[in-house]
Amino acid sequence: MINIPKGTKDVLPQDAYKWHYIEDTARKTAALFNMKEIRTPVFEHTELFLRGVGDTTDIVNKEMYTFKDKGDRSITLKPEGTAGAARSFIENNLGAGPLPVKMYYIIPAFRYERPQAGRLREFHQFGIEVYGAAGPDADAEVIFAASSFLEKLNIKNVKLNINSIGCKTCRARYNAELKAYLLPHLDEMCETCRARFEKNPLRILDCKEEKCKALNRGAPRIIDFLCDDCSAHFRKVQSLLTAGGLEFNIDPNIVRGLDYYTKTVFEFVSEEIGAQGTVCGGGRYDGLIEELGGNPTPAVGFAAGIERLILLMENTGVAFPEEQGPQVFVAGMDEDSRIEAFRLVCALRREGISAECDHTGRSLKAQFKYADKIGARHVIAIGGNELESGECNVKRMADGNVTPAKISEICAYFKEME
Ligand code: ATP
Ligand code: MG
Repeated sequence: MINIPKGTKDVLPQDAYKWHYIEDTARKTAALFNMKEIRTPVFEHTELFLRGVGDTTDIVNKEMYTFKDKGDRSITLKPEGTAGAARSFIENNLGAGPLPVKMYYIIPAFRYERPQAGRLREFHQFGIEVYGAAGPDADAEVIFAASSFLEKLNIKNVKLNINSIGCKTCRARYNAELKAYLLPHLDEMCETCRARFEKNPLRILDCKEEKCKALNRGAPRIIDFLCDDCSAHFRKVQSLLTAGGLEFNIDPNIVRGLDYYTKTVFEFVSEEIGAQGTVCGGGRYDGLIEELGGNPTPAVGFAAGIERLILLMENTGVAFPEEQGPQVFVAGMDEDSRIEAFRLVCALRREGISAECDHTGRSLKAQFKYADKIGARHVIAIGGNELESGECNVKRMADGNVTPAKISEICAYFKEME
């Protein structure tokens, strides 16, 4: 037998409704915020992620699924959604239209990580991208979109943490301070962080190793080094969140894993799903579009991990609306009535009524059992008598209630019910 690759998961037919529910909720949330879907390829040129995600990130350094295709091109399965959306925005000149451009995506993403609960090698993200709005209201809009999504899913026990990581100017000043603080502790840090120390010290704050986390708790805070512009921006984001009734904490250690972030960064975190508690992360990345060769364009967005949301909902008993079985199961007793059952099912489906019949030659009794198992809401049995009289009985499975109906009017009978 061939097994599923490590770190990937099947969504089985009996669980697919959970995914549909989350995806539908994502699409509805996006529509409420006037966002349209962008679909980009599952793979891109590796170069896109080297530049768009950044070569000091874990994603680029350790986690990408990169391979040569038969034309000797270096190709990478997308590890996240922003770089592809940004590439497409530039390539299709979307910036020429009315701004901001507001987009969302629901994608599979691929990262070669150590699989754990809530950490997979193929996982799925719902994300949004808002391009062309520099002001703090766009940041707040994006945070509200994430919050509204979680709220619609009935997820309550998540906390919103925000931070600002400033712009190039404030970060240069901060990096110097941070390095001065960390320098005496270099040998206490993990190997990865020692490498980050020169290349991108800010990223050290993102480290998940206990010894580095302990060190980071005493580190200077970047919000104390923001320039006037970044500081005003951050204050305005906070007052907009407050105005909209959203509670938040300022967490000076959120820096996000990606190189292109500027100013606002945020995470929605749960304590109910173990170490992988971040269900949604986002922020502003004003440098990205230009970095990828486009005109300078401010950008802000988030990505939420669907597997972690499902885990959170399951662990905290948040209900998924149950999937309904077919509206009607039509059972046939013998050769002729089976054909009639099949014909009825075809007619019902044509009218948009979900209907099912037997496909494995079951006895009548076994058909009833099967209808019950698949959750059929009504059952009709057709035999010689029904064929002759043109009448049948519709049994409502919920309470066993039986109603007579004309076979020729069966579609109308069920249409009235919908
Ligand atoms: P983490 O710190 O947990 O590694 P990240 O900072 O790498 O997360 P992002 O790149 O911001 O994550 O991705 C956004 C969201 O996608 C995360 O908040 C999480 O919900 C989800 N996610 C990221 N990596 C994985 C993964 N390997 N498996 C499942 N979900 C993931
Ligand atoms: Mg990660």
